[in-house]
Amino acid sequence: MPKQVNGPKRGPPIQNELNDSVKEEVKAFLSDEDKLHLLDDLTKVNPVTTTTVLKCLQARYTVDVFYTYAGCSLVAVNPFQPICCLYSLELMKEYHTALRPQELKPHIFAVAEQTYRNVESQIEPINQSIIVSGESGAGKTWTSRCLMKFYATVAASSTSPKGNETVERIEKRVLDSNPVMEAFGNACTLRNNNSSRFGKYIQLQLNRSQHLTSASIQTFLLEKTRVAYQAPRERNFHIFYQITKGATKDERMEWNLPEGASFFWLPNSERTLEEDCFEVTREAMFHLGIDRSTQNNIFKILAGLLHLGNIQFSDSVDESQPCEPEDNAKGFVKTTANLLKVSVEELLETLRIRTITAGKQQQVFKKPCSRSECETRRDCLAKVIYAKLFDWLVSVINGSIYADSLVWTNFIGLLDVYGFESFPENNLEQLCINYANEKLQQHFVAHYLKAQQEEYAAEGLEWSFINYQDNQSCLDLIEGSPVSIFSLLNEECRLNRSSNVSQFQTRIENSLSNNRCISRDKFSKKPNFVVSHYAGKVCYQVEGMVEKNRDPVPLELLQLLKNSQDCLLQKFFPMTEKSQNDTKTQNRAAVVTVVSKFKGSLERLMQILHSTTPHYIRCIKPNADCKAMTFKKEEVLSQLEACGIVETISISAAGFPIRVSFQSFIERYKVLRKSRTLNTVPDENGFSPAKKKRGLTQTANNDEGLHFVIHDLLQKMTVGQSAVSLKQTEAKSTSSSMYCGKTKIFMTNSMLEQLEARRAAVLSEKAFCIQCCWRRFKQRKLSKQRWSATIIQAAVRSWLAKKHFQRMRRAATVIKHVWRKWKARMDALAAKELDYTEEKLHSSVPGATIFLDQSPSPLEKTWPLSAIIQFWPLGLVLSTAPVTVVGFRRDSSLLACLKILHRNNGYKVESNLFGCGITSIRALPQGSVKFHCKKSPLPHANISPHNQACMITGFNQILLDRKKLLTT
Ligand code: ADP
Ligand code: MG
Repeated sequence: MPKQVNGPKRGPPIQNELNDSVKEEVKAFLSDEDKLHLLDDLTKVNPVTTTTVLKCLQARYTVDVFYTYAGCSLVAVNPFQPICCLYSLELMKEYHTALRPQELKPHIFAVAEQTYRNVESQIEPINQSIIVSGESGAGKTWTSRCLMKFYATVAASSTSPKGNETVERIEKRVLDSNPVMEAFGNACTLRNNNSSRFGKYIQLQLNRSQHLTSASIQTFLLEKTRVAYQAPRERNFHIFYQITKGATKDERMEWNLPEGASFFWLPNSERTLEEDCFEVTREAMFHLGIDRSTQNNIFKILAGLLHLGNIQFSDSVDESQPCEPEDNAKGFVKTTANLLKVSVEELLETLRIRTITAGKQQQVFKKPCSRSECETRRDCLAKVIYAKLFDWLVSVINGSIYADSLVWTNFIGLLDVYGFESFPENNLEQLCINYANEKLQQHFVAHYLKAQQEEYAAEGLEWSFINYQDNQSCLDLIEGSPVSIFSLLNEECRLNRSSNVSQFQTRIENSLSNNRCISRDKFSKKPNFVVSHYAGKVCYQVEGMVEKNRDPVPLELLQLLKNSQDCLLQKFFPMTEKSQNDTKTQNRAAVVTVVSKFKGSLERLMQILHSTTPHYIRCIKPNADCKAMTFKKEEVLSQLEACGIVETISISAAGFPIRVSFQSFIERYKVLRKSRTLNTVPDENGFSPAKKKRGLTQTANNDEGLHFVIHDLLQKMTVGQSAVSLKQTEAKSTSSSMYCGKTKIFMTNSMLEQLEARRAAVLSEKAFCIQCCWRRFKQRKLSKQRWSATIIQAAVRSWLAKKHFQRMRRAATVIKHVWRKWKARMDALAAKELDYTEEKLHSSVPGATIFLDQSPSPLEKTWPLSAIIQFWPLGLVLSTAPVTVVGFRRDSSLLACLKILHRNNGYKVESNLFGCGITSIRALPQGSVKFHCKKSPLPHANISPHNQACMITGFNQILLDRKKLLTT
């Protein structure tokens, strides 16, 4: 298989690339420029180059978006001004309660929440660490502080009040440790007003219920030389300024710090920083359990150190005589001795006279020191006291936040470590700092880049990333064995010979010449060596390096401190039996050098980091002047290179950021395989879908089966897309967004998106199908119910109609009977009448209009007029009833007529011309007569099942029918 080469090749030097490609890149991106700030991940910029990444970061920075993902790390650009609501409690809660915090905007809270959830999930490695790196002033300490606040908020127990108390106490102390450690360990440098001059690893320890129970702080390589030496325009540790500015009148008296007093070790004190807040430090110390009298003791010692710095020596005229302190320094010697509670004579002797033990008899010789030696001893005294004080403070803080390891089960570690440093003059401190950064970079490389490559190899993927910068050779140069810079430095210290700078430089050059990371600055007059670090070349001065590495603390100095009457100094330098013999054994004692101590502590830290799940936050300083809203491309670019972000981005984009195990892949995407539409697509091997389905059930348990199923799935997925290779030998296409390894499927983000889109489509299709079935079922059920209701309604209505009709029929029979009787009687009466009078009543047209004579008839006499009026139409109806109609129809028409009689306005009575009596009755046109059932509980009761059958002809119709009959 041809080797895949992905990702851009390493381009020309940074600067050139910036200048040359900037126009092209900007052009290419012009269309997307408006949307550039919307990109949450730098791996999504296209093409992935330093310039586009820079542009994206800048675009986001200008719209106040300071966090962006870069693959697995988070890039944090320092806003250099407080941003409203960026770290609010509400935002913490939003990230804490979010279903998927990663889907929210990039933020340090998203990283923090992820670590918290990882601990909760208890998936190995459970413990987490967040490595916050970046150059001085980039925002590491700020970030760590915010992270601590986040954990203190979310890891609080809401259920148990006792647990909550503990959390609150720990939270307060962890947060209080910040101002104390910053006051004693931070200083104003050229790059940062509040630069941490030590490395810090904080472990936040959680119990089984995920509540913060305790914490521990580990510190590294405090820059103690700063106590006695501050570079131009830099300052000493903040605490010295705090005491000189914040002390009360009485304290000033007690500590001998009169207002306006000047101290050599207190440069640039006229500048007041917000960090110079003494009260905050004191309060925090108090909360950490350092009472006021101990605090007073500490500040007294610090004042003593300031006075010590003012002790200047004059050159001795005679070498056999010790140097004398300058005239104006004598007072400082006294004050120092007073504040440190040591004797003035002993202090002076210790500073000026060296004790040498030599010979078999261990004879002790005293040798006066030169002026510079005196000054070195003075500085050494200050450094050793300050370093002990700092360590003691850390131990006090740890004591106040410590809990037995049985109480907590997991931890989240925050590493706030100084960034890569390169000054015009670099020495052992910078070598150690840069060594630490190399180690951390290697950890990152091991975690991300190497792991990726190795995983691909293990999965049988022949995938070659761009040649990422492996810094192992640089690390070999610094700390390797058998020969390295550290080993050579230690050797010099062990041999205890007066080191010759040029000789040492030559030794380094000769011994390490085969390492490509070392060179020399030939233009510099001072002996030096240049190390090519991953972040750039740094030139180190050889002079003073060996001495710094040895960091000798003359035993006389230690003895002086042990003899101090100050209780705190006695605690720092306890008098032990061993120490009494120290003078004798000083030359034989194994030298523990600075680098070996540093290497040891760093190795311990690396062990912890290796055993945890790492998360990276890369802090970026957008400009060297610490100005708000100023983004300087060149400066940012060098930092992006230094922390490996550019590389990360290229690799993330080029590789397969998504890996899924076969089982999970099948579990999630088997729906695609079963999909009707997909199954109809014929396989290249001619497998029928049915065959494949059998294959799934029969062989899903073994590897072959899995491969078969996956192959089938992938085949379908990639129809019309990039080819997917099941085995390397099968790979025919170089454009691949998906690979099938030995145990996992590797894919790009775009492939995942496609898969997810297909899955969503198939699921939606299935859901639609289920919906259709359900609706059909519901519809059928409803129509059955309707049909049944209609049948019941029809039955009930027919029964009701039948009943009603029967009642009416009975009523009609009764009326008929009565009418016949009445008619017979009337006939009889009429006959009588005829017999009685010869006059004949003449009716011209029967039916339409009846004229009544004015004279009352015998009928009138027998029947009251109202009764005649009321029953006249009845009689008329019965007399004119259709004779041809029988049975039901006749009854119906009779019933209709009867109903009409009940209505007052059913007919109209017209009086004759003379206005006396009824002259005519005329039926008014009426509508058809319908039967209406009274209200029924059934919904369709008012609908007649037999509309036509129930129609009864109106009164007029009856008359018409009659007419018709008469004419026939
Ligand atoms: P580092 O520890 O990397 O040396 P700091 O954390 O001390 O840097 O940050 C330097 C300064 O930058 C801080 O004093 C603060 O003023 C500013 N700063 C850093 N991060 C932020 C932030 N997220 N929001 C506002 N200001 C910040
Ligand atoms: Mg810091």
